[in-house]
Amino acid sequence: MKTATIYSRVSDPGQMGGLSPELQKELCQKWAKEKGYQVVGVYQDGGRSGTKTVGRDGLEDMIIQCQKEKVNAALVIDTDRIARNEVDHFSIKNELRKGGTQLIAINQPLNDTPEGQFLETILAGANAFYSRLLGRKVRKSLEKKCQMGDWPGWGPVGYTNVNRGTIEKPNNVIEVDPEFGSKVTEIFKLYSTNRYSVDNLVEISYSIGLRSKNGKKLCRNVLYAMLKNVFYTGYFKFKGELYKGNHEPLTTPEIFEACQRIMDIHNRHVCRRRKYKWLLNGLAFCQIHDSRLCGDWVSRKGRAYYHGNANKGCRRYLSLDTVEKNVAKYLQKIQFSDKLTNQVIEKAKELVKQSREIKQQEIENIRNAIKQLEVKRNALEDNLLDGTIDKEAFKRKHGELDIQIQNCDNEIATLENQGGLNIDVVVEIVSLMKNIRQEYEKASFEAKRHYLSMFFEKLWFDEAGNVVKSDYTPLFQHLVDNQFIRIRAIWLPRLDSNQQPSSYKNPSVTKRLGLSHHRAIRELGI
Ligand SMILES: [Zn+2]
Repeated sequence: MKTATIYSRVSDPGQMGGLSPELQKELCQKWAKEKGYQVVGVYQDGGRSGTKTVGRDGLEDMIIQCQKEKVNAALVIDTDRIARNEVDHFSIKNELRKGGTQLIAINQPLNDTPEGQFLETILAGANAFYSRLLGRKVRKSLEKKCQMGDWPGWGPVGYTNVNRGTIEKPNNVIEVDPEFGSKVTEIFKLYSTNRYSVDNLVEISYSIGLRSKNGKKLCRNVLYAMLKNVFYTGYFKFKGELYKGNHEPLTTPEIFEACQRIMDIHNRHVCRRRKYKWLLNGLAFCQIHDSRLCGDWVSRKGRAYYHGNANKGCRRYLSLDTVEKNVAKYLQKIQFSDKLTNQVIEKAKELVKQSREIKQQEIENIRNAIKQLEVKRNALEDNLLDGTIDKEAFKRKHGELDIQIQNCDNEIATLENQGGLNIDVVVEIVSLMKNIRQEYEKASFEAKRHYLSMFFEKLWFDEAGNVVKSDYTPLFQHLVDNQFIRIRAIWLPRLDSNQQPSSYKNPSVTKRLGLSHHRAIRELGI
């Protein structure tokens, strides 16, 4: 019998926002039974945002079991239960695949056909897109929390998050970690003397027993981040604003300031180069010297470059701007066939419909719960009139019910605000497939990396920084082999019927986004 594990997650701390883990489990169990899988493990991560995979124990434990026991499948409700970030999505999927485990999102009937896989890669990018969108909507309620002095996340090293309320009425606060708090104070003191480097402190903090949240040695970057984190002075920063926190400080403003000055002196140039993220590291290669190209900041010139390995004779420095622009230009060669485009759109529409139905069902369930609460509230009023309860008991119970109803209302609002799969995503997919270069250039750094890694394993450059050749990923190769994707030779002037070079402009591409959106919607008939 085939085996499967189940993974569920609650999307937001405090509130449910989406299917309850129990319901997620139940649906997965039902699916497993129908498809003939034996469930060998059930995992859950509760109340943590999917934006970060750090510290998601349930997920990690599940991956370990899958690898150890060669489990056939890992079941989730939909891909955003796993990750709301394309990079995470792929690394988790890869981890699972290493052990021969297939990740199956039961509400997204994706299969291993090329267009199914292709859609899945696009959706992984789109999940990251929701996360940003959702982020904006949630921000408002988070700002409120901040103004009340509550840091809306997990406390950094030296603090713990504890619930001082009950399960029904949680009161989550951040307190000083009894084991690590004083050790953090000590590290700040040591650094402020300017007698220790950050590397020294890495060793010292290890020897005094200071550990990260997952019990590991604090690495250099974490320690840096710690020394720069204003949280330790009793304040915190959220979206650029500074707030006074309710948590206890672990260092004084004077010591903290001293640490900042020391760090500034030590890292004047390091800070500047951190602005750069290297889009092409791991992807870019020099064709002439068969050497990997790496991004680097040349402070002498005040510019960023990609350069090869001097040991291989590759001494050329290629300007970062030129190289990255040429990659965007290269993408223009990719043309998705109508067949692939239509199939992907069909699949996407199917998903949108399903996603809408599921969301409606969830909202319906909560509405029913509200009705029941209201019945209770009415009964309570009757009890007061009958004289079966006194005024005090009435007030208390009435208040409790009001809170519960309010919570349900909040849940509905959250659900309605949640992106989910909607028409915007389909429109996004359509425009991506119609003009990959334009969409790529508009995309965020993460999405750019995602698109590139979806297509290429390696990009080969000549000495002028032009892309001369590319190695495709297996999926992309498969799509090319089956004529789902065509690669144009754009560097050759195209000839029109009079054998005259025509414009490079692709007439099917409109520059005005609004127009293409409207047309896409009309064509899709949604
Ligand atoms: Zn070279």
